[in-house]
Amino acid sequence: MRWILSGWHEREAWSISCKSALLRGIKCHTDVNVAFKMVLCDRFFRNSELRTKNDFQTKKFDDSRNGWCQPNEKFPFFEIAGLTIFHEMTHLHTVGQRAKLEAFPDPDGYDTSGTIDVYEKGGDDDRAKYEDMDPWEAARKLKQLWDEYDADNSNYKPLWSPIHNADSYAAAALEFSYLEPCKWDVILPDSV
Ligand SMILES: [Zn+2]
Repeated sequence: MRWILSGWHEREAWSISCKSALLRGIKCHTDVNVAFKMVLCDRFFRNSELRTKNDFQTKKFDDSRNGWCQPNEKFPFFEIAGLTIFHEMTHLHTVGQRAKLEAFPDPDGYDTSGTIDVYEKGGDDDRAKYEDMDPWEAARKLKQLWDEYDADNSNYKPLWSPIHNADSYAAAALEFSYLEPCKWDVILPDSV
């Protein structure tokens, strides 16, 4: 197991806990709720791990058969290891603080300015909206729910704002990274 990003600042502490850890090969630090480390398992570094084996240098930014710019691919096709790192970084209290996010009570019992994962931190009714979704799908669902609520406030009001959801940042950042090199307006035109 390798440890990275531990101890940016000796007096600050943070917690990382997320479902995507299982999906992406990051082991969550679950034995204490004020962790100070991002922990990456060996799986994160495996060449066979689809979610983390690539980076932007793995393929060319063109629409050749082996290029990144495949307009009809789904989000997972575009995933790179940096997406996982970015996602996890947004959970860090100190990162949220530096982004000027106000600390709020995390359901696990501590105050944090870091993000949560919307699919695991709400009540049963809220979490049911994101059941079995990947983090990027849940981020889109969250946006869709807010759009529907904003249009008509008799619709379901989500518990969390996208500003508190890790993949609302990470997925958006990944998509944004492809727009200019692939000369696209959106990478998933049929998605919400
Ligand atoms: Zn997470």
